[in-house]
Amino acid sequence: MSATIALQLDPFALAKELSGKQFIDGEFRPASSGKTFPVINPATGEEVAQAAFGEAADVEAAVAAAVKAQKEWAKRGARERGKLVAACGAALGERVEELGRLLALETGKALRTESRVEAGVLADMFTFFGGLAPELKGETVPFNPTMLTMTVREPIGVVGAIIPWNVPLLLMAMKIAPALVAGNAVVVKSAEEAPLTVLRVIQIMNSILPPGLVNILSGFGPECGAPLVAHPKVGKVTFTGSVETGKIVYRTAADKLIPVTLELGGKSPMIVMADADLDQAIGGAIAGMRFTRQGQSCTASSRIFVHDSIHDVFVETLKEKVNALKMGDPLDEATDIGTIVSPQQMDRVQSYIALGKETKGATAHALSAMPADPKLAKGLFVQPHLFTGVTNDDRIAREEIFGPVCCVIRWTDYEEVIAAANDSEYGLAATVWTRDLKVAMDAVHRLEAGFVQVNQNLVVQPNLSYGGVKTSGLGKEATLESMLEHFTHKKTIIINMK
Ligand code: ADP
Ligand code: MG
Repeated sequence: MSATIALQLDPFALAKELSGKQFIDGEFRPASSGKTFPVINPATGEEVAQAAFGEAADVEAAVAAAVKAQKEWAKRGARERGKLVAACGAALGERVEELGRLLALETGKALRTESRVEAGVLADMFTFFGGLAPELKGETVPFNPTMLTMTVREPIGVVGAIIPWNVPLLLMAMKIAPALVAGNAVVVKSAEEAPLTVLRVIQIMNSILPPGLVNILSGFGPECGAPLVAHPKVGKVTFTGSVETGKIVYRTAADKLIPVTLELGGKSPMIVMADADLDQAIGGAIAGMRFTRQGQSCTASSRIFVHDSIHDVFVETLKEKVNALKMGDPLDEATDIGTIVSPQQMDRVQSYIALGKETKGATAHALSAMPADPKLAKGLFVQPHLFTGVTNDDRIAREEIFGPVCCVIRWTDYEEVIAAANDSEYGLAATVWTRDLKVAMDAVHRLEAGFVQVNQNLVVQPNLSYGGVKTSGLGKEATLESMLEHFTHKKTIIINMK
């Protein structure tokens, strides 16, 4: 069915095509006020589209459509819903190139290393959750022999999903795929920095799903996100973003007494033991710090604790490897590292680099060359920075920067390094690098984080529970259990047979 939407591989043309639109009740619609805001190519500073400026009236329209569509959707068998969601995965899987290019254009994430990769895993999330539909099972309960007692899993109704700009496709999929399979309708609020590619995804999904089941609004937090969370007919909110906004969402949800899932920030430790395989650990630092994504990741390994005995060689090799990464036009296949997403984020990153330079005992290492192409002179490029000589008490080691700024912290005592790794308000992810299984097991049990890996640094994927502890969030995503816990409620039914 999605064949009716023509493939558009020119991201500039596609951006224009999607300009000024939201997707509500099965159709493209401008904001009800007619207002828009610009979408900027961060590699050049040029405007590529306008996005609809969604507000409360648009929230109202989208939620009303979702309420109506959900009632019919919930009546369908779970497997039928699952098949349709999996069909969305198949349709999206055919458009990896289209989606990857548009994502690179609007976010500045390099096409080859980041945007195409993200577009590629998008389909998998829908396929995975589509296949889990038959697992929406209840239980029978041995309550009384004369009473048939059972539980069933019912959908919540309308789910509000608020997403960030850094990995918008994957994070949206992690929310809406399980919500839909469980029988809910969704209203997504995209991030103001990246409204276009997710809009395209919803358009494609809508060619398979009934109208009104998936809706997407673009707009800013206070004007569009806040009324979505506060809407009386929204029965569940799932949010990924900053701690500060997460708390605002949680407070509003508390007033309505509705459940929330929050995936927030991180300052994830990577602990390199003296016996670690150095090449493996360096590769892990590059992948973990998401250098090719300019560090714009909540799980970024932004605190790298390296044992004193290998510290200097680790730093030198890491510097060489990051220096070899090519910064440039995100749409160029030769580019490893693209841009920062927005001028606001750029200011934030630069202020942290300045802070690092003023930090007592710290040394800044600026890596990888700035692009030479004059067309990119206004682009939001910033050199990845490594800071050595940092302690875990320094602000650059404590605060989430969400940019290519990485602290390397020297350590000698095992107990101290575990304590330092845990001495953070965050607890999203952690990695341990050692050949010693005993040490690895001890460390993984003691690290306060939701996602802990040894000798590798994989990104989130279907069937691996993902989410943090402490201020990193509330609730886990990407598994069967997360679908059951977060997108259904359990109803107990007792039938008296006497
Ligand atoms: P960032 O640092 O990336 O801006 P935010 O937490 O502000 O992180 O943004 C994540 C998402 O939350 C975005 O879609 C943003 O528009 C939305 N948002 C921001 N403020 C609010 C709010 N008060 N209520 C609901 N959503 C909001
Ligand atoms: Mg914000």
